Amino acid sequence: MIPSEFEYYRAGSVDEALQLLNEKGPDAKILAGGHSLLPAMKLRFNNPGALIDIGGIPDLSYIREENGYLVIGACATHAQIATSSVLASAIPMISETAGIIGDVQVRNKGTIGGSIAHADPAADWPAALLAADAEVVIAGASGTRTVPVNDFFQGLFTTDLNESELITEIRIPKPSSETRSTYIKFEQPASRFAIVGCAAMVTRNNGSCENVKVAFTGVSAIPFRDHQLEQELEGKVPDESNLDAACEIAAKSVDIMGDHFASQDYRRHLAKVFAKRALKTVTG
Ligand SMILES: Cc1cc2nc3c(=O)[nH]c(=O)nc-3n(C[C@H](O)[C@H](O)[C@H](O)COP(=O)(O)OP(=O)(O)OC[C@H]3O[C@@H](n4cnc5c(N)ncnc54)[C@H](O)[C@@H]3O)c2cc1C
Repeated sequence: MIPSEFEYYRAGSVDEALQLLNEKGPDAKILAGGHSLLPAMKLRFNNPGALIDIGGIPDLSYIREENGYLVIGACATHAQIATSSVLASAIPMISETAGIIGDVQVRNKGTIGGSIAHADPAADWPAALLAADAEVVIAGASGTRTVPVNDFFQGLFTTDLNESELITEIRIPKPSSETRSTYIKFEQPASRFAIVGCAAMVTRNNGSCENVKVAFTGVSAIPFRDHQLEQELEGKVPDESNLDAACEIAAKSVDIMGDHFASQDYRRHLAKVFAKRALKTVTG
């Protein structure tokens, strides 16, 4: 499949990318790893007149700890994140998520910024970033703004980003050393996208669960934190019956998707099963 004609620009800095976005207007698109945009262009679902490649901007691929936050540049690849020792020790859920995205080629080229900008309902990052209470740093002509990831995802392939903006950074508050986290998924066997993905993060206090955070991807059109499930477990000892009671209400408050990979009923069942597995991992 061959995409329609487009101009190609390689930005050397965020400012240059923003200037190009401004000059080229709504017909332009940012290109990062190209692993979602280029297939869509080849299928002619997306026909931008200009691509602005941010993959060569040197200061957008960092991973570091800074003032109580773990900060990840938008162009950090899934592979970089999966192998980051900073993230593996501070918040394993983030490394685990990156390590099970697609295959080696996808992980070597695809970026965290590109993934969340694309907002595929089956993408892995949204669940982990929601459970981690992450923030998205967005640059535009009038400066920079920071959006809680909870407000960033707005619908199927729809985010809070506007056409003249780009994501520069993802910020994650560093969890305490008593906090454990994980991300697991039931995957589509060919692409490895999540049919249901569940991220869980729990802090233990004298055996009880505190700051319970459970988030899902793949279940509904918008990734979500499951506040009802979280409240059910908050302050309780994570024994079998409390975990069962909490997971029984998984995904109760959302419209569940059904498609040729999994019916609504099956997705609801998977949400319960994967919530329990994730919570057992972080509380066991
Ligand atoms: C075979 C295959 C298997 C895959 N499996 C999985 C999987 O298991 N789990 C999963 O989560 N994903 C999976 N993916 C998707 C993969 O993670 C992509 O890398 C990701 O969705 C997009 O990142 P990218 O850097 O390639 O973005 P691109 O394709 O370059 O861009 C995607 C979109 O985001 C925009 N964009 C990119 N960067 C920015 C930015 N910094 N600011 C604003 N807009 C931006 C682009 O304009 C475009 O609209 C798979 C992809 C393939 C091809």
